[in-house]
Amino acid sequence: MAFRASFRLNRGESAARAGDGAQEWSFVLADTTLNTIYDVAVIGSGPAGYTAAIRGGQLGLKVALIEKDSVLGGTCLHVGCIPTKTLLFNAEIWDHLKHATEYGIDNVDAPQLNWENVLKRKTAIVDKHTKGLGFLMKKNKVTVVAGFGRLTGPAKDGVHTVELTAGDGTKSQLKTKNVIVATGSDAKMLFGMKPDDRILTNIEILSIPAVPKSLIVIGAGAVGVEFASIFRSYGSEVTIVEFLPRIMPPEDEEISKELTRLFKKRGIDVNTSCKVEKIEKTAAGVKVTWTGANGKTVEKEAEKVLVAVGRGPRTEAVGLEKTKVEIDRGFVKVHEAQETAEPGVYAIGDIVAGLPQLAHVGAMSGIVAVTKIAGRKYRPVQRERIPACTYSEPQIGSAGLTEAQAKEKGYTVKVGKFPFAGNSKATIVNSHDGFVKIVADAKYGEILGVHILGPSATELIAEAVAVMELEGTVDELMFTIHAHPTLSESMLDAYAAVEGMAINA
Ligand SMILES: Cc1cc2nc3c(=O)[nH]c(=O)nc-3n(C[C@H](O)[C@H](O)[C@H](O)COP(=O)(O)OP(=O)(O)OC[C@H]3O[C@@H](n4cnc5c(N)ncnc54)[C@H](O)[C@@H]3O)c2cc1C
Repeated sequence: MAFRASFRLNRGESAARAGDGAQEWSFVLADTTLNTIYDVAVIGSGPAGYTAAIRGGQLGLKVALIEKDSVLGGTCLHVGCIPTKTLLFNAEIWDHLKHATEYGIDNVDAPQLNWENVLKRKTAIVDKHTKGLGFLMKKNKVTVVAGFGRLTGPAKDGVHTVELTAGDGTKSQLKTKNVIVATGSDAKMLFGMKPDDRILTNIEILSIPAVPKSLIVIGAGAVGVEFASIFRSYGSEVTIVEFLPRIMPPEDEEISKELTRLFKKRGIDVNTSCKVEKIEKTAAGVKVTWTGANGKTVEKEAEKVLVAVGRGPRTEAVGLEKTKVEIDRGFVKVHEAQETAEPGVYAIGDIVAGLPQLAHVGAMSGIVAVTKIAGRKYRPVQRERIPACTYSEPQIGSAGLTEAQAKEKGYTVKVGKFPFAGNSKATIVNSHDGFVKIVADAKYGEILGVHILGPSATELIAEAVAVMELEGTVDELMFTIHAHPTLSESMLDAYAAVEGMAINA
């Protein structure tokens, strides 16, 4: 017997996820209490969970995908990667329009932003891909189960029991040989505050009714930098306040430095080494008080504040404490195939200790876990070859070691740097700020790290990852033909720059 459960979203995260056109979704709450024993139950349908579920189906496993919200796709699809990149694309078009006359297009000198349509397009894209996920689940024979999943303890006779709580509080159970926990992460807040219409996280900011006149962004990691870039393009006065000495702290120092210069050139007020002391509501908006690098107190008011100070793992309330799963500051410790210390329990995505919180990392960790469960040959996540992309204007794409990390690891390092100013395609697309920086091992010429700031950096970095996977060396890459005129030629020039022989600079 199977019964259908359909429930509406609670206001809050789920509602924001589904956008204003929130449709009622229904999942089959399958014969969970009856005889089925799944090969694997995945808790959470973000990019980590849904990828694991699809690959599990492809490998012939009987898979259940458990989701507490009424839509599949998690943070990435609803309030992360996809909506933000949609807004960034719109902002890019808007920025190009500012130069319309230069491109030979007249009469667009007074364009007007239709924010409602910007949001509509974002929602339409999210909806399209949400439906696509539903299709992929059917195609791969994955049973989608509505409800909040919780482990009940270790397996008995090799079978785990996952407790399910449906939207209306109804409880049921699901039996499975393996469990993959993919519950994702939530935005951290400061001072125990709750987000609202003025103090925003990535969720609220994605559906604000109008472009704010002014915005303070607390935190200059990828999320903060991308929103700063979007709203600056749309004309907001943007202030960044970052605790660490530089913006985009995990990136190579030269990237942070040049991005800071370019952001300042765009009119963004960038403040680093600043400790936020207070966020208060005012009559007109919000006031943020921070202690600056010089120890002085600074107060600034804005219409909205975005808190983008990192994301905490959702590992509470999922029953991990009833198992041997080891936790490190909320993150789950795993072995090379994503196995936890509890037999038959795996962890993937944003909750994993030591993995960057990125959708593609989550997806690959899901593939590794489920391949191992299927008893097939797998390759662990290659932690040192993960592309990190920030889709701001200008973009950042990086992989491998920064120059400082390579030196710390004891390499004698050779660096090649090529500015986009010397690349003809960059001039054609009217985007010639930034550079490609190659960090190579001086002894064998192996490429250790690639750091790109500039046009299509988030696409160009794919070549670098492939090169590093294949342990490519400078002398091989200097003779690798790149098409002309392309932005990718700047990679060729940067490899050659390691030997001081870039052609175009
Ligand atoms: C603004 C923003 C922009 C981003 N942009 C990018 C980007 O461009 N590229 C990139 O790679 N990464 C980006 N990220 C990060 C990316 O979104 C995350 O790394 C990714 O979503 C993590 O995937 P996940 O599957 O681990 O978790 P999530 O996507 O968070 O999904 C977890 C799912 O589990 C469900 N769940 C939780 N607990 C339970 C439970 N007990 N029972 C049932 N279901 C449960 C949740 O409802 C959710 O659907 C961005 C993040 C943000 C916030």
